[in-house]
Amino acid sequence: MSRDEIIHDGVSIKIYGTDEEDKVIVRFTDDITAYYKIKKAVIKDKGLYCNCISSMICRALEKGGVPTYFIRQLSDTEQLCYRADVIPMEVIVRNVIAGSLAQRLGLQEGTVPESPIYDLCYKSEPLCDPIINDYHAIALGLVTREELDVIYDLTHKVNDILRPLFAGIGITLVDFKIEFGRLADGRLVVADEITPDNARFWDMETGMRLDKDRFRHDNGQVGPAYKTVYERLKTVADVQ
Ligand code: 5GP
Repeated sequence: MSRDEIIHDGVSIKIYGTDEEDKVIVRFTDDITAYYKIKKAVIKDKGLYCNCISSMICRALEKGGVPTYFIRQLSDTEQLCYRADVIPMEVIVRNVIAGSLAQRLGLQEGTVPESPIYDLCYKSEPLCDPIINDYHAIALGLVTREELDVIYDLTHKVNDILRPLFAGIGITLVDFKIEFGRLADGRLVVADEITPDNARFWDMETGMRLDKDRFRHDNGQVGPAYKTVYERLKTVADVQ
């Protein structure tokens, strides 16, 4: 599989075309940013941890019946995926109150809501990814009502698969962000990585943050925290 032109030059992932029209190579980097790229750093081996974590999670999702763009892991830092037309909308699932929701609603971090909370955000860097609702998503032409129903259904499934998976390795899945894309045949798939860069993972025993919040809040030990998630996931048979 040869690597062609770059088609997405992100901070933590770069996406390249290949000699097969419907496939891309996703490469994970060691770069990390926060607060709309104001804060930047390089975390040794973050690309490897995130690529492996994301690959293991996609395998678990596929086994659980959630279609993703992931095909297979190619190397320590690269994976082969289907080319998807990514919808500029983030779907955030919150099992525990943290981050921006704690601030927005004046709630205590760590509060467990009656049921998971779902947020939609319009992906726009200049607008800082504003929160939208179903009506905005449809009126803006991002998705149809039918597609949104499928997206919510798949997102519920993702949460139902990942919560127990992480609980089994002593980690609370606090929240995560995913994006969806359309394949060439129009099918909707999860077209995003799920890693400590876009999810919150808390150690169930100690409460230690095992995700990007360590970087956001200058807690240090960012690489070791990502490595912990990677090492624990590796012990789960279902994700191999
Ligand atoms: P919050 O709303 O607290 O900022 O984020 C909720 C969850 O979604 C966190 O796990 C956070 O990492 C993830 N998230 C929200 N927006 C983004 C984004 O633009 N990029 C990434 N990578 N993750 C995001």
